[in-house]
Amino acid sequence: MVTSSEVRSTLRGTPVVPALAHGPAVLVRSAVSPEAIAAFEPSFADADAALAAYVEAAQAVSEGFARKADKASGAAAEVLTASAGLARDKGLRAAVRKHLAAGEDLLTAVHSGVEQFVTVFTGMGGLMAERVTDLHDIERRIVAHLVGEPEPGVVVPDTPSVLVAEDLAPSDTAGLDPAVVLGLVTERGGPTSHTAIIARQLGIPCVVGVAGAMTIPAGTPLLVDGTTGVVELHPDPAEAEERVAADVAQRASLASWEGPGATADGVSIKILANVADADSARSASAAPVQGVGLFRTELCFLNRQDEPSVEEQASIYGEVLGPFGQDRYVVVRTLDAGSDKPVAFATHAGEENPALGVRGLRLSFDNPGLLDRQLEAIAKAANATGTEAWVMAPMVATVAEAGDFAAKVHALGLKAGVMIEVPSAALLAHRILEVVDFLSIGTNDLTQYTMAADRMATDLAHLTDPWQPAVLQLIAITAEAGFHAGKPVGVCGEAAADPLLACVLVGMGVTSLSMAAAAVRPVGARLATVPMDVCEDAAEVALSATDPAAARDAVRALLLG
Ligand code: PEP
Ligand code: MG
Repeated sequence: MVTSSEVRSTLRGTPVVPALAHGPAVLVRSAVSPEAIAAFEPSFADADAALAAYVEAAQAVSEGFARKADKASGAAAEVLTASAGLARDKGLRAAVRKHLAAGEDLLTAVHSGVEQFVTVFTGMGGLMAERVTDLHDIERRIVAHLVGEPEPGVVVPDTPSVLVAEDLAPSDTAGLDPAVVLGLVTERGGPTSHTAIIARQLGIPCVVGVAGAMTIPAGTPLLVDGTTGVVELHPDPAEAEERVAADVAQRASLASWEGPGATADGVSIKILANVADADSARSASAAPVQGVGLFRTELCFLNRQDEPSVEEQASIYGEVLGPFGQDRYVVVRTLDAGSDKPVAFATHAGEENPALGVRGLRLSFDNPGLLDRQLEAIAKAANATGTEAWVMAPMVATVAEAGDFAAKVHALGLKAGVMIEVPSAALLAHRILEVVDFLSIGTNDLTQYTMAADRMATDLAHLTDPWQPAVLQLIAITAEAGFHAGKPVGVCGEAAADPLLACVLVGMGVTSLSMAAAAVRPVGARLATVPMDVCEDAAEVALSATDPAAARDAVRALLLG
C-alpha cells in the first residue's frame, strides 16, 4: 500500500552536475540537536574530570579533521589541517579549564572558551577573523561528542546515498567519496557555491537551491536529475534504475572522449583546465586538454603571511607550467586576492564591502611592486620550463587598467589578457581588445556583479545563475567583440563546465572553454555532437528566453530533443 508519505512528488532547483543519481536521502544536520543538549546531565567528580572529557572530545574532533585532510589536497587540505590543530589547541584548553574552575558546567565552559577565542580572532581581523567560522564548527563538533551524538556535518553513509543538506561547508565536502555519495541536493546555494564547485570537481550529480529539501524525510528514495534540476521523491524504483543505467552508459561513452575540442562539424574550440597548484596541474595535464585556461595563483598563498620571494614564486609557478610541456600553454592569472580569497600579504583589511573593494588588479594600484614581482616570477617560470605562459589580470574595470597591465606583460615578452568579470569591461570589450591579446570571461564574478547578488549568498541561487539573460547578453557582447578583433575570447568561470551552456557560449563566438578537469570530458563530448550552426541557434534561444529555467529548457529541447 502506498502511504501518503510515499506519494511521488518533485522538488526543483538549479542543476549543477548533469548526471542522474538514485538512492535514499541522508540528511546532513548542521547543528547538534537541542534535545540531546537538554538531556546532557553529566556527573563529573570535579573540574579535572570535566576537563578530561573535554580533552578526549577535542582530540576526537582533531583526529576527524586530520583524517579528512589526508584525503584532501591543496587549499582544502591546508584548511583542514589548520582546524585539526585548532581543535586541540592548548590555549583553547586553558580557556575551558579557566571557565570550569570558575564553576561553569562543561558545555557552558566550552562555549565560553570558544567565545574568548572568537573575540581575539575577530580583533585580529583579516585571515584570523575568517577562522571564526572554523571555531564555531569545532565547538559544535566537540559538543556533539560530549552529548553522544554524531558530529554535525557530513556523516559518511554506510550504503550509497544521496546527501541532502542546507548547504555544505568546505570541511564537509573535502574528501567526499563518489562511491557512497551518489548525489548532492542542497536547499541553499547557487551554481558558484562551494558545494557546486566541489560537486563538479568530483563529478557527483548535484542540484542546489532546492526549496524544501530539508523537509525530505531521511531515507526517502530520491531520483536526482542534475541536468533538469528536478529531484523526484519516491520514484518508481525500476524506472529510476533504468534511467540511471542509461545515464551511466551515456557517461561512459563520454569518458572515452579524447579531444581535441571541436564542434560536430569540426570548428576547433580549445578545451582547457582550471588549476590551483602543482597537484591539480599534474592531474589536469593527463586530461585531454590543450592547456590551462585559468591558473588561480592566489590559491597557492591563502595560508602565507608574507609575500614569497620572486625565486620561490617562480618555482611554484614552474611546477604548474612544467607538466604542460612545450606544446600546450598555461594562462596564469595574477593574484586575485581579496573578498572571498583573502591573502594576508596582499589583502586590504577591514573593508566594508570587500567584493566591491580593493581586490584583484586593484591591489597593484598602491602596491605596484607586488604585481611587478609576480610578473617577473611568471616570466622566469616560463623561461625555465619552456611552457608558453599567457598572463591575465582579474577584476579589470577600465580600458586604462587593461592598457597599463598589458604594457607590463608585453615588456616581459608574454601575451597579455584580462578577465571580463565586471559589466563595465564587458560593455567595453571592443576597446579593451585594442590593448590586449585575449579576453577570458569569468562568469562567476560577471554574474555576481551583473545581478548585484553575492556569489556566496545561499538565498540568491535564482540570481547567481549564469543562464540569466542579462549575463548571457554581456557574454555575447564580449564574444562578438573578440570575433571582430580576431582575438581569442575564452570562458573560465563555472559556466564553461555546464555542457549545454558550453554549446551556447560557443554559439556566441567563444573560442575556448576552461573548467575543472572533471568536466572536460562531458563538455568536450557534448560539444562534439553539436554542429556550429546549432550552437548558434542555441545561443539565440538562450538569449531570447525570459529567465534561466526557460533558457535551459529551450536549449535542452534544441540539443537533446
Ligand atoms: C570567475 O569569476 O568566473 C572566475 C573564474 O574567477 P574566480 O572564480 O576565481 O573568482
Ligand atoms: Mg572571479
